[in-house]
Amino acid sequence: MSFDAKFKVEFVPRRYRDEVARLAVLYPLVKFDMRNQRQDSRVVNATAKVIAMWRARTLNLRDHSWAAAQHLPDVKGPKPVDYMRNCRPNFVAMRPATRPCKVWHACPFCWGRMVQGVWDTVDAAFPDTALIEAPIITTPQAGTVVLAAGERRPRTIVMNSDKTKLTADGKRRITTSVASRDFPYHLVTVCRRSVFSAQDSLPNLVDEFCKTRSRIRSIDFTGAAVVTTVEYRTKQWHLSHRYLLMVKPGTEIPVSFSEVPGYRYINTPTRREVMRAVARTCKYSRSMLMGDPKQTVRILHAISGRRLRALYGCFRKTKHYDT
Ligand SMILES: [Zn+2]
Repeated sequence: MSFDAKFKVEFVPRRYRDEVARLAVLYPLVKFDMRNQRQDSRVVNATAKVIAMWRARTLNLRDHSWAAAQHLPDVKGPKPVDYMRNCRPNFVAMRPATRPCKVWHACPFCWGRMVQGVWDTVDAAFPDTALIEAPIITTPQAGTVVLAAGERRPRTIVMNSDKTKLTADGKRRITTSVASRDFPYHLVTVCRRSVFSAQDSLPNLVDEFCKTRSRIRSIDFTGAAVVTTVEYRTKQWHLSHRYLLMVKPGTEIPVSFSEVPGYRYINTPTRREVMRAVARTCKYSRSMLMGDPKQTVRILHAISGRRLRALYGCFRKTKHYDT
């Protein structure tokens, strides 16, 4: 091993886009007492644990012939495994700021950055109905559309029960209770799984399964995100599509989606609900770090170069051009 960065903790960031990565990756990997999960020291310890696990895992998978981790003798420069072991950690801000390894199918930190990318897109598409920064403190009349500073489209419609509050950070905000908010879009999450014999050729299964993702076209959604995962359990391949749909109220959801166990329809998608939905949809597969290394390498080879994350509808458009 040529070098291992010694990461020093700077701080635990607390934005939604930080918490969403922890919800999708860190908390499922390291068992937390949910009441204490937000304590800085626990987040820091858990991150250190995941760094150690990932470092050990890269060597383990390399020794099981993972192609992406092999060092070719005639290639100069650092070994691929060294990049992976020193991938910039997520979940906690740390120094030195090393380069991300970008092996996002496997690396928990790069997977976390992928989750944050999905969150940025989905969060920008859903109107934030919770808080409006009020540049001038006034009490708008009921029914007035209020634009926050820098916003180009209405994020809320002020209702009768609006209150102007001085919040903990000293800023004045107009807050609206969930019950009185207007939610122009609803949120659906669902996970569709298929199980196949481990005797079947995994690359073919992955190709066929990826094609079934397009079945969401039967739903008249506004935006959709799909994340595909492959796991090996009990001598079987478990392939899943996890869907997150942004729909207009009243959109018909076919029974092939709505009758799947774990189907959720959320008609009050607050930012927190959207964050939880993104974390559910983009949940990191524990078996990538903890599963049988031989099977994990077969999975990594089968999904290499496949499209495992897809965005549709308004999630594809950039937020700057849809006013
Ligand atoms: Zn990485």
